[in-house]
Amino acid sequence: MSPRVITFHYHLTDTENNVLDSSLEREPLSYLEGAGQIIPGLEQALGLLNERDKRKITVPASEAYGERDERYIVSVPRKDLPQEEIQIGDEFLPEQQEDAHPFRVIEIAEDYVVLDANHPLAGVDLTFDVEVVNIREATEDEIEHHHAHGLHGEGH
Ligand code: ZN
Repeated sequence: MSPRVITFHYHLTDTENNVLDSSLEREPLSYLEGAGQIIPGLEQALGLLNERDKRKITVPASEAYGERDERYIVSVPRKDLPQEEIQIGDEFLPEQQEDAHPFRVIEIAEDYVVLDANHPLAGVDLTFDVEVVNIREATEDEIEHHHAHGLHGEGH
């Protein structure tokens, strides 16, 4: 069976019902099956649905953005940071590591700062309210490019 492109709307909340993201005011999201474009737990559940199906899909952190890893939390001397004004939530990209996550400032003390390089959604169980908008066969271009080209395959 050739891979499919599935287009869906989603409304993403955490376990406390905070809205983390939503496609409802935007274009729906398209992905190519098997290309790793969306988190594994969501792709697995969506792959079983039909067009126009609506579902609530809960994806545990381990199948979403992973568990928080304490090794990604580090304290650094304040003088080592590239800027003097620092606020909680500021992000720094480590030099030399191209694929690294940015470090987020999570604590500021007088002479040191605590940085967290976990994905912001690491350790968070996610709930997706989804509606499947469209399912179609992938085009040759999409299979070659390893990603979906939108709802009808003409975008890029
Ligand atoms: Zn492409």
